[in-house]
Amino acid sequence: MTEAAMKKNDIFTIKITDIGAHGEGIGRCEGMTFFIRGALIGDEILAAATKIKKGYGYARIVEITEPSPYRVEARCPAAGRCGGCQLQALSYDRQLEWKEKKVRDALTRIGGISEERIRRVMEPVVGMEEPFRYRNKAQFPVGYDGGEIVTGFYAPGSHRIVPVKDCLLEPEENADVLAAVRRYMRENGVLPYDEAAGSGRIRHILIRRSFSTGAMMVCLIVNGGDLPQEERLVAELRKVSGMASIFLNTNTEQTNRILGERLRLLWGQEYITDVIHRVQQEENGFVQTSESVTFEISPKSFYQVNPAQTEKLYSIALDLAGLRGNETVWDLYCGIGTISLFLAAKAGWVYGVEAVKEAVADAKRNAALNRIRNVSFYEGRAEEILPEWARGEMRRPDVVVVDPPRKGCDFACLTAILSVRPERIVYVSCDPATLARDIRILEDGGYTLARLRPVDQFCHSVHVENAALLVRGGAEAERT
Ligand code: SAH
Repeated sequence: MTEAAMKKNDIFTIKITDIGAHGEGIGRCEGMTFFIRGALIGDEILAAATKIKKGYGYARIVEITEPSPYRVEARCPAAGRCGGCQLQALSYDRQLEWKEKKVRDALTRIGGISEERIRRVMEPVVGMEEPFRYRNKAQFPVGYDGGEIVTGFYAPGSHRIVPVKDCLLEPEENADVLAAVRRYMRENGVLPYDEAAGSGRIRHILIRRSFSTGAMMVCLIVNGGDLPQEERLVAELRKVSGMASIFLNTNTEQTNRILGERLRLLWGQEYITDVIHRVQQEENGFVQTSESVTFEISPKSFYQVNPAQTEKLYSIALDLAGLRGNETVWDLYCGIGTISLFLAAKAGWVYGVEAVKEAVADAKRNAALNRIRNVSFYEGRAEEILPEWARGEMRRPDVVVVDPPRKGCDFACLTAILSVRPERIVYVSCDPATLARDIRILEDGGYTLARLRPVDQFCHSVHVENAALLVRGGAEAERT
């Protein structure tokens, strides 16, 4: 075994060629891969090694000797310090290009799919025209900074709060909510939660906004069951434009989980309403159709965070499902029924499966709200319910839609899908690596990846969403 060529504190020049899981720059030097925070694709850097491992290491920037041609002036003053936007300093076009590459790399390396086949099945990433102020949900930790009450976001890999008064990914009104809560806290002597001691009161502020109706929901996550002078807080928050719903959530546990179990409505409505339109791709981009589904959203339910892109994602998923009107569809990991209700308009019957009880209740209410009757929702884990359904307890599906969390589908879930042999499987995924892993399993089980389209749901972050179609059969030779 030869000794590592590089040592800690070594200074070297390196060209950044890729982006890592947390947005760090990646380059190669002396046969080793280096991860460098703050470095961007295309940068040439003088770096100092901070940690050496076998075959890879970490380094810090000493000097950017030749800045990347793709560098842009980040619009947000907190960019690079706050853990939210990892890629704001990279031009948006280049972000999209890199996201496509990330998907292709996962498909080849993990999915074992050839470059040539990827070129045939993969369509260009769907980006945003204006990739700012797109988020409809945000969770701000509350804390102290230099003796002042601050709200903001955690710095990368830590729980130190970087104060952010107006996040450029979010509606401007969020800044008014944060200012109102800080003012209420100052004037009424309400302390931020102290994680280490488990003391203090306000932990997080969760804000949701419907872009279609303008309605706003605020949920304060509190270390306790109430707040002093709650009516003063409500009065402050009601001044914010669009305020429709104010909740208090109790979380007294010393945990990283943001929301606790108990919710109490302080003022306004239990839900805010949002409308998602079906869109159609035309020459000049996506245009809205007259078809839409209305949703009521509660503080705890999962709901896609980028409504403009969600319309595109769901519409693409619906196209991929290729429904003609009488199919049986299983929609797994269905959340509050968003995709299910979209599909129902074109299908015979849709059966939704979701693990979170409250989401299932929301899904049922949303079906009634839209007068959609050809859907049924079931509470439980897909990997537990599906094997039962596959044994004959449920009508066989023509189409299966899955939209799992980042860890992808459980193997038992995929096995059950394969055993009922639907004509089509539509896979909506927020993690290319687990998507590629699951595509491999489905292809080995007799399906062929036929189409795939990335959608940029999380502009300026390293994440990318995908909608993929797998069809039953397909030439064996296709599946290489
Ligand atoms: N399709 C929905 C939700 C997607 S998010 C939408 O687009 O809005 C993934 C969903 O899977 C979440 O609602 C989560 O609660 C649910 N979930 C996570 N693990 C699950 C499992 N093992 N079985 C069923 N649902 C699960």
